[in-house]
Amino acid sequence: MILSDVECECGAQYRCAESETLAGEPGSLLCINCGRTVEAWQVAQKRVYRCTLLPDRAYPVVAPPPSP
Ligand SMILES: [Zn+2]
Repeated sequence: MILSDVECECGAQYRCAESETLAGEPGSLLCINCGRTVEAWQVAQKRVYRCTLLPDRAYPVVAPPPSP
């Protein structure tokens, strides 16, 4: 099992688990947040993706307060 992380342009993050032994088929990962193609593959290994972070659940970038 190979684990890797992929990130969509919109900021959503996915954890990919690719099997080295199970047969799968070529395909692509569509972002559940924005619908873009995040990743496409031509290999015949089984791949499973899980969304680990959605942009609207991410911590907001907080600007530091101005110094006095
Ligand atoms: Zn996206």
